[in-house]
Amino acid sequence: MIPAKPPGPQGPRQISLGERAMSEHFEARTLYDIPLEFDADRLMRQAHVEPGSDDAIVFSRLVDIARMTARPKAVFRECFVTGRHDGIVEIEGIRFASSVLARNLEKTDRVFAYVATCGAEMDEATPRHGDPLQDYWWDMLKAVALAASVRFLSDFLVTRYGLGRAASMAPGSGDASVWPVEQQKQLFCLIGDIERLINVRLTESCLMIPNKSVSGMKFQTERDFRTCQLCRRQTCPNRMAPFDRNLWNAFHGLAP
Ligand code: SF4
Repeated sequence: MIPAKPPGPQGPRQISLGERAMSEHFEARTLYDIPLEFDADRLMRQAHVEPGSDDAIVFSRLVDIARMTARPKAVFRECFVTGRHDGIVEIEGIRFASSVLARNLEKTDRVFAYVATCGAEMDEATPRHGDPLQDYWWDMLKAVALAASVRFLSDFLVTRYGLGRAASMAPGSGDASVWPVEQQKQLFCLIGDIERLINVRLTESCLMIPNKSVSGMKFQTERDFRTCQLCRRQTCPNRMAPFDRNLWNAFHGLAP
């Protein structure tokens, strides 16, 4: 069992504004000045750009712009479970309807809600040539900045908060039933004014802008867990683990 703040009530409840204010001593923290390196040669190989070609000149120019403009950032908030009930977990008084998240948080009360991003500066600096290939390369460079942000956040949570073996979940990841994407709204609400803090905003359809942003909850766990294990998407270049039928059944209360 992971040490946590005093346990909350057993059943779900609505938190009052006064209680909410009291709970906010665990403020959101922002991470700026994240180390970032663009390895132009490696990225060019990855993009199948021939060294010395015209494409290589254009690609190098994009890398130069990325080096000048990229400002990856992250924001997170240390939070605690305040209630659990029938596939709903309540965190700092906000309800999250995901039986998988609820199961994952059965043995821990502490959770880190986060958003990490490549930074809106890269969106503002997007070269506008109307060339889909350059757009693709630029997106690739934004993904490098996002990866740096995610890495820095993970390391920060380990060194500053002693977060050991951990897993994370995000609204909209995996099959729709795992954690509906609409719950991004609750997640953003839980963390705070994310647009003001790191300039990431949520659209009506719960997509994040900049597009190279990720959100989720990170928590200590005794077992390996990746949402990909509960995702039946056939072709996904980002898959990190195969679909696990037994785990799916276990999480959905079905026979093995
Ligand atoms: S397989 Fe792909 S779509 Fe499914 S959860 Fe993993 S990364 Fe996301």
